[in-house]
Amino acid sequence: MLNVYDVVIAGCGPTGLTTALLLARAGHSVAIIDRHETIYPLPRAIAFDHEIARVLNRLGLTETLRPLVATPGVYQWRNRHGETLFELDWTSGGSVSGFANSYLFSQPDLERVLNETAAVEPNLTILRGFEVTGVTQTEDLVTLSGIKNGETVDVVGKWLVGADGANSLVRASMGLELEDLGFEADWLVVDVKPKEGGTLPFDDTLMLQVCDPARPTTVVSGGPGRRRWEFMALEGETLADLNSPERAWALLAAWDLTPDNAVLERHAIYTFRGAIARKWRDRRVFIAGDAAHLTPPFAAQGFCAGLRDAAALSWRLDLALKGLAGDLLLDTYESERAPHARAWVFNAIELGKIICVLDPAAAEARDAGMRAAREAGAPPPSDEILPSLGKGAHWDDHGGGTLAVGGLVERAIGQGHFDDVVGTGFVLLSRSGDPAEALSEENAALFASLGGITADVAAATDVSGAYTAWFEKLDADTALVRPDFYVFGAASGPDAANELVSALGTFLNPQE
Ligand SMILES: Cc1cc2nc3c(=O)[nH]c(=O)nc-3n(C[C@H](O)[C@H](O)[C@H](O)COP(=O)(O)OP(=O)(O)OC[C@H]3O[C@@H](n4cnc5c(N)ncnc54)[C@H](O)[C@@H]3O)c2cc1C
Repeated sequence: MLNVYDVVIAGCGPTGLTTALLLARAGHSVAIIDRHETIYPLPRAIAFDHEIARVLNRLGLTETLRPLVATPGVYQWRNRHGETLFELDWTSGGSVSGFANSYLFSQPDLERVLNETAAVEPNLTILRGFEVTGVTQTEDLVTLSGIKNGETVDVVGKWLVGADGANSLVRASMGLELEDLGFEADWLVVDVKPKEGGTLPFDDTLMLQVCDPARPTTVVSGGPGRRRWEFMALEGETLADLNSPERAWALLAAWDLTPDNAVLERHAIYTFRGAIARKWRDRRVFIAGDAAHLTPPFAAQGFCAGLRDAAALSWRLDLALKGLAGDLLLDTYESERAPHARAWVFNAIELGKIICVLDPAAAEARDAGMRAAREAGAPPPSDEILPSLGKGAHWDDHGGGTLAVGGLVERAIGQGHFDDVVGTGFVLLSRSGDPAEALSEENAALFASLGGITADVAAATDVSGAYTAWFEKLDADTALVRPDFYVFGAASGPDAANELVSALGTFLNPQE
């Protein structure tokens, strides 16, 4: 008999694994496939933000990851004279999600944790050493074809997620084209560790952007015990010349790093570019992560965008597989995520344009502009500038499509982050009593079918005051939050809970 998985996922990168875990935990059978027998070892992402920390917390990984992450101190942009042009203190203030603003890590460490978690998930089948070669679909099923141990193998599912990275075979097979967003620069990426028993001659909490037109350079933590240097390739420099240990050591010498005090863990050349797929879905096939969008790493958002895709797609597929939602809801994955991802790519490109200046006169002009802004006391960026989702499965006002607050609350079991002591999923929360009591029978049944939970976050239980401030800002007393931590909508008055749940119902569009 044909074995049909609920969802087949191409790519055991962070996007694929997160999607797989969220769907498997929702009770669906998932097969995840990768061409490599082991995790990808090269240096890539080193930072994720509070929203992603919340997604990883939803997977129950916060404690496992604790020894593998660090939090940054100060992020400074300096010019070639060493003058500070811009400074952001990551330690000041919390984040909207109730986690630290930023976490520093080594991507292979995090991928190892995701793989180990996936390996023991009962609903999840991991097929490694499997090169995906093609995709076909009928009205009801989708088949991923590939080669494993020299043999042709087909894996069949009801839905397919192509999380197979920048050169996605799934994207190409479905004819989903990439739109070039117009940025390209080559950089040498070098990860360094101290020699055994030693320390690096560098303050570990400092994140640096050296805006030197002679060699734009990024110096950041690469997670506990590691430092990352990124050196822009200059005009006329061959990538083969740049990508050698000798060249890496020559560039690191300016930072007092030598083979006597440091170990060169890895070096690789990357072409940083901005691009986004023009379409993210073809009937039963979705693309996610780097398969759907590519961003220069200047905003540290590529991996983050992939995990947002995972969170956004998994709850929709969960509802579709349970017969609770239909095609129109599935289409809102792209309509919401594509503009959001695009906004982050453009942010990163704008940062790249400031960082990657090689002309000394243009660099002086840039420095003068940044100096003036600093002297005028320009405020640092805040959560207020986070992009909202595109149109989709949320109200367009009353906070719909923005990130929901997460914070410390008091419960009978003690104090903790809301997600840990109350729960996650569809959450209806209010500052004026338990919204469950206000729901009609019909709405209570609908909300229960979605696995929704309700919570009273009256001021007395709002330990950090985050919820009280949030409701003030929303000008509402009840809010409906989705499993990906975005707000569906917010409302006030005795019928607020019913209004929100009924409205959510109209977005689900289950098919007969
Ligand atoms: C230098 C650098 C620094 C970065 N820094 C940051 C940062 O600080 N923060 C951040 O958020 N992001 C950062 N990123 C981006 C981040 O690394 C990527 O966005 C992230 O890895 C994308 O994850 P993914 O799962 O979508 O794709 P990938 O990690 O590329 O995973 C795709 C998987 O699919 C598999 N695969 C591909 N094709 C096939 C096939 N035909 N058959 C079978 N398997 C296949 C691959 O083996 C791979 O395991 C950085 C990237 C670079 C290069």
